[in-house]
Amino acid sequence: MQNGLNRIDGRIVIVGAGIGGLAAARALALLGAKVTVLEQAPAITEVGAGIQLGPNGTAVMRALGLDQALRDTGTPIGRALVLRNRHGARLARFPMSGLKRPDDYLFVHRADLIKVLEQGARAAGVTIDLGQRITGVRTGTPSDPMAVVETDGKEITAPLVIGADGLHSVTARTLGDRGQPFFTGQVAWRATVPKDPSPTAEVELYMAPGRHLVTYPLRGGTLRNIVAVEERSTWTEESWSRQDDPANLRAAFAQMGDRVQHLLARVETAHIWGLFRHPVAERWHGTGVALMGDAVHPTLPFLAQGACMALEDAWVLAACLAGNSDQNLALAGYQLRRHDRCRRIVDAATRNAWAYHLSGPLALGAHTGMRVLGTLAPQK
Ligand code: FAD
Repeated sequence: MQNGLNRIDGRIVIVGAGIGGLAAARALALLGAKVTVLEQAPAITEVGAGIQLGPNGTAVMRALGLDQALRDTGTPIGRALVLRNRHGARLARFPMSGLKRPDDYLFVHRADLIKVLEQGARAAGVTIDLGQRITGVRTGTPSDPMAVVETDGKEITAPLVIGADGLHSVTARTLGDRGQPFFTGQVAWRATVPKDPSPTAEVELYMAPGRHLVTYPLRGGTLRNIVAVEERSTWTEESWSRQDDPANLRAAFAQMGDRVQHLLARVETAHIWGLFRHPVAERWHGTGVALMGDAVHPTLPFLAQGACMALEDAWVLAACLAGNSDQNLALAGYQLRRHDRCRRIVDAATRNAWAYHLSGPLALGAHTGMRVLGTLAPQK
C-alpha cells in the first residue's frame, strides 16, 4: 500500500465476503492487520451477473495490486454506449473515446470479481471462514472497547469489527435504525446469455415508456449480460436470489424490436429483484465497529456504482486506520470522507431512474443529459 501509512497491528474481523469485505480484507492485511472474514455462504460460488467497474473502481483494484487479474477476466467497455428506442432505432451514441482512460471501464462477472478479490485476500494472509452466519454484533464500551460478534453458538471478540454484510446487514442494526426503504415502483430482471450471435463491443440501452433494457458483453463476449427494468405498482421483497420464469421477462418486453426479442429468446434462467430506495445511513461507526458498502449506502443500479463505492470504502477505511493510531478518530475520519460522496452518488442514481423511462420529445434531452456511466473520478 501507499508509503506514509503506518502498519496496523491487531486483529480485525470482517463480516461478509462480498466485494467490499474482501477488498477491505486485502487492504488491511497488506498493512499488517490480522484479518478474519466471516461469510454466511458455505462456499464462494458463482452468484450474480454482470457488474460495471468504472475508473474509480478499477483504480482501487490497481492500488490493491489486483489490476492484472481483473483485466484477465474483465471486458473493456469498447467503442460506445448506444441509446435506442423500443424499435431499435438509434437515439444517441456516446463514443467512449471521450473517457480519459476507456480501458479503465470494465464489465466483469460478479463471480469473477469475487474470485480475484478472494484470491488476493488469501494471498495477503487473510483467513476466510465460510458457513459462519452472524446473528448479532455488539459495540464495545469505554470500559471494555472490544466488539463482539455473535454467530450460531459462539461469540468472537475483536478490537474492530467491520460490517460488510450487504443490503440486509446485521451489523448495521447494531448502530441503530437505518431508516425505512421504499419501493421505487420498478423491478429488474438480470440474466446472461451465452455466445452472442451478433457480438458488439457496444453497451446498448433500449428505452420505452415504463421500461428499459441494458445489455453488454462479459467474459470477452462469450456471455452477454442483460438487465431489464419494468415499472410495477407493488412489490414486497428485496433479494438478489429470487428466480423468475424467463417467460415473464419476454412478455414484459414483447413490444421491443427484433434485437431484444432475439436476446430474450435465449434466456434460460432469470433473476428478479424489486428496486428499493434506501437512505444513506447517518451512523457508520461505533466503538469497535465500522460499516461499509451496501450495509450503509445501498444504491439503485442506474449509475453502476454499487461495487465501485464498496471498493472505495475499503480503500479509504484502510487508509484512515493506517493514518491514525486512535481508532475512534480514524473511523470518524472515514465517515467524514465517505458520507457526502456516497450520498451524492446514490442521489444521482435515483435521478437517472426516471429519465430512462421518459417518452416523447422531452426524452432525448433527458436521456442525453443524464449521467449514463459511473465515470466519477477516483476519490483521492
Ligand atoms: P455484497 O457484495 O452484497 O456482500 C455482502 C456479503 O455479506 C455477502 O457475501 C453475504 O453473503 C454476506 N452476509 C450477509 N449477511 C451476513 C451474515 N449475517 N453473516 C455472514 N455473512 C453475511 N450487483 C450487480 O450489479 N449485479 C449483480 O448481478 C449482483 N448480484 C449479486 C448477487 C448476490 C448474491 C449479492 C449478495 C449481491 C449482488 N450484487 C449484484 C450487489 C453488489 O455485489 C453489491 O451491491 C456491491 O458490490 C456492494 O458490495 P458489498 O460488499 O457491500 O455487499
